[in-house]
Amino acid sequence: ASLPARIHQVIDHHVTATPDRPALIEDGASLNYRELDRAVKATADALAALGIRAGDRLMIVSENCIALACLLFAAFRLDAWAIVANPRLSPRELDQIRDHSGARRAYFTAGVSKEAAIHASRYGANVQNVGPLHNIAVSALNQGTAPEPVEADPAKQVAVLIYTSGTTGTPKGVMLTHRNLLFSAATTAWFRRMDAHDKVYVVLPISHIVGISLLIMTLMTGGTVQLVSKYDPAALARAITEEGVTILNGVPATYQRLLEYKRVAGLPKLDRGALRLIAVAGAPLDLDLKSRVEQELGLPLLNGYGITECSPGISGVRFDVPRDDHAVGTLLPGIEARIVGLKGAPVSKGQVGELHVRGPNVMCGYYRAPELTAKAIDAEGWFNTGDLARFEGDCLFIVGRTKEMIIRSGFNVYPAEIEAVLSTHDAVVQCAVVGRAVEGNEEVVAFVQLLQGSNTRPEDLMAHIAPQLTSYKRPSEIIVLDALPATSTGKILKHKLAETLRAG
Ligand code: ATP
Repeated sequence: ASLPARIHQVIDHHVTATPDRPALIEDGASLNYRELDRAVKATADALAALGIRAGDRLMIVSENCIALACLLFAAFRLDAWAIVANPRLSPRELDQIRDHSGARRAYFTAGVSKEAAIHASRYGANVQNVGPLHNIAVSALNQGTAPEPVEADPAKQVAVLIYTSGTTGTPKGVMLTHRNLLFSAATTAWFRRMDAHDKVYVVLPISHIVGISLLIMTLMTGGTVQLVSKYDPAALARAITEEGVTILNGVPATYQRLLEYKRVAGLPKLDRGALRLIAVAGAPLDLDLKSRVEQELGLPLLNGYGITECSPGISGVRFDVPRDDHAVGTLLPGIEARIVGLKGAPVSKGQVGELHVRGPNVMCGYYRAPELTAKAIDAEGWFNTGDLARFEGDCLFIVGRTKEMIIRSGFNVYPAEIEAVLSTHDAVVQCAVVGRAVEGNEEVVAFVQLLQGSNTRPEDLMAHIAPQLTSYKRPSEIIVLDALPATSTGKILKHKLAETLRAG
C-alpha cells in the first residue's frame, strides 16, 4: 500500500479494520485503535483551543506514555512541529532547546515523572486537562515567535525537530519531515516483516529518533506498542517471559543491564516467550555481549546502523541472514551510500572512508543553521554521516567517527577497534577510547568501568590487550572510573572524557 501524506494518517486503516485491537499500552492503561483515534482528535482540538497553529513549535517534555503519543499525533494533525524532550535533561539543556526552537508552548506529562514535574514548575506551567489527557502541565513559552510556513508538499513539511544528544558537542536541531519518518518507518517495518500481531517493547525514549520511529512503524502495521517510561530490567524480563512481547529494540546498555540483572538475581535462563526479533543500534556492538545475549534468548541479536539525520535507519542485519561479527548489515531499500576518501583522497573498493548517504530518509536540514546544513548535505543530496565505514561486498561495517579518529605518529587509530579488544576482558563493563594531544601528536587513552568489586588493575588490562594490538594502537594510559558519562540512551559522552584530559 502507498504511504499516507501525514504521519497521523497511519492509523486510519486500522481504526476501521481492527478498531478493537490494542494500539498503545502502558503500565495500567491501554487504548485500542478506535480509542486512540478519538483521543488524538480530541487532543488536537484541545491544542487548537490553546492557540496552537500550524507551523508552531511545540515542546513535549515527557517520558514514554500514552499521553505523549496522543500529544505527538495531535501535533501532526495540526501541522505543528513537535519537539519531544527527555525530562532527564538538565534545566540548562531544556532551556537551550526552548530558546533555539522558539517553541510557543510546552506540555509536561507531570503525572509521569518527578523530573517532568520539576521542569513544569520551573516554567510556571499550569496543570490542566488537555482534551482527554489528565494532569498535563501547560506553559506558554515564546508567545512572540512566528509560525513556520506550512508546506503543501508533505516531503517538505517538518513533523519533528529532534535535538541530537550531542555526543560530539553542542546539540543540533534536526528537522525531519512527515515523508522522512514515514519512509523510514515503512522501510524498517518491511525489513522486519512486521504485522498486526507484533507487540513492540518501546523502552528507548520517544525523545530519541529510534523511539519515535518504533512508535510510528508499529502503529503503521496495526500492532501494539508497549510504552515504557523508565527502564527496569526486571520489568523487561517479565515482559519477555510473560507478556508476549515480540520485538525488542535496544542500545547495547539495554541488553547489558538485562544480563547483569539476571546474573545478580541468580535467575534461571529467560524463557523468550513470543519474542521473535531482537535488535540493537546506536553504538558499536561488543561481540562478547552479542554472544551472551544470543545464548540467553536463543535469537540472533541484529545489529543496525542509523543516525538521527537519516530518520534513522540506514542499514540492518537481516533476521534470515544473521552475522557473528560487527557488521551493521545491508543498506535498507531505497537508500544509496558511497564511501568517500578523507580530504578527497580516492578510496578503492573495500577500504575505509567517510560514509555518505542519499535517500528519502535524509533530513531537510538543521533548524536555523543553514551553514551547518550546507556542510552536511551537498547539492546532489548526499549527506555526510561523519562516520568512517567500509563495505565487504554489500555488507557495511562502521569503523568509527571521523571526529574521533586518533592520528598517532601518522597512523590512523580507530577507537572502536581498541574498545572491542578491551571489552573482551571479563572485568570490563564499559570502555571508551579518546585521543590526548601531546606536543603536536596524539596519544591513545582508554577509560574503563569495571565490574563492581573487581580488583583488576590498569596493568592487568594492558597485559590482556597488548598481544592483540600493534604498539601504536596500545593506550598510553588506562584510567579506571566508577562510571562513564553517558546520554539517556546509554551512549558514552566522549567529548566529556576528552575535556577531562585537556583539563589535566
Ligand atoms: P551527536 O550526533 O550530536 O553526536 P548522537 O551521537 O547521539 O549525537 P545519533 O544520531 O543518536 O547522534 O547517533 C548516530 C551515531 O551513532 C552514528 O553516527 C554512529 O556513529 C553511531 N552508531 C549508530 N549505530 C551504530 C552501530 N550499529 N555501530 C556503530 N556505531 C553506531
